[in-house]
Amino acid sequence: MDNLSNTPRQSNTACSRCASQQCVRFGSNRGGTQRYICKDCGRTFTPDPARRGISQERAEQIKTLIAGGHPITKVTRLLKVSPKTVYKVIRATEKPKVPEQLED
Ligand SMILES: [Zn+2]
Repeated sequence: MDNLSNTPRQSNTACSRCASQQCVRFGSNRGGTQRYICKDCGRTFTPDPARRGISQERAEQIKTLIAGGHPITKVTRLLKVSPKTVYKVIRATEKPKVPEQLED
């Protein structure tokens, strides 16, 4: 959504082959996904979209609201995230309950 900066510059995107962070923007896919090229090894790649999801901070906000008893519809409105995102956070939050205190 931010097309103001078209000048190639370093990002915190790491190369998928050599993990170098000397990567600059390198056009885009047919689908419009931003591609990068590694200045160290020359590999072009697309950052894994799954990893770029929501920020840790946003996930925390979702968890807090859900824990506070807010319905998902309200959370999506408040935080401007998709229901899918909310479900994902909820699923990641749910842990199998393991009884830890067995001493009686
Ligand atoms: Zn590389």
